[in-house]
Amino acid sequence: MSSRKLLEIVASQVIVCTKCDFWKGRKNAVPGVGDVRNKVFFVGEAPGQSEDAKGEPFVGAAGEFLNTLLSEIGFSREDVFITNVVKCRPPQNRQPLPVEIATCTPYLERQISIIKPKVIVTLGNHSTAYIFSKAGLSFDGITQVHGKLFETIVLGINLIVFPTFHPAAALYSGDYRKRLIDDFQVLKGELVKRKIVPKLRA
Ligand code: URA
Ligand code: SF4
Repeated sequence: MSSRKLLEIVASQVIVCTKCDFWKGRKNAVPGVGDVRNKVFFVGEAPGQSEDAKGEPFVGAAGEFLNTLLSEIGFSREDVFITNVVKCRPPQNRQPLPVEIATCTPYLERQISIIKPKVIVTLGNHSTAYIFSKAGLSFDGITQVHGKLFETIVLGINLIVFPTFHPAAALYSGDYRKRLIDDFQVLKGELVKRKIVPKLRA
């Protein structure tokens, strides 16, 4: 079966999933968007209200800023894969509990295994903590590790983990906005060095 088809199967299972209670409050599950050939893989935390309404990740205010960050490094949304640690909106946008993360992340893991990204960009504490645990790296909070490159192995795939702040943080603080912009410049340098280009290749 093709990778594209396998990725579609994950999405179709997410859409009808009832493994944790989040399904009860959702309008739409949010499996993720992007072509299976995209080698840069973004992981946020959980869908918010706009994402739940649309069934697409990062389409609200934080998503607008993510689009800006991407354009500043010469990438568009179509050039990357974007998803979240948990695929349905938590009630009142609260943070997902460890048990909810554990219940949902098999989907994320399948997406990573199918796409085999070269770079995983983790946005914020939850996704960084999760991916670092998969890489066997210790994690002491996003402030310690943001903007740094971690060459590692996740689910048997050699890749770079690049943690940065959650773009929603920039909506409340100009300081985070600047730190995110600076981090994305570091990311850009690494992508250029490794010849990871936005354009899709067959
Ligand atoms: N915040 C996230 O973590 N993910 C989204 O998809 C939107 C906002
Ligand atoms: Fe299923 Fe994940 Fe949605 Fe919970 S958050 S219902 S585990 S897809």
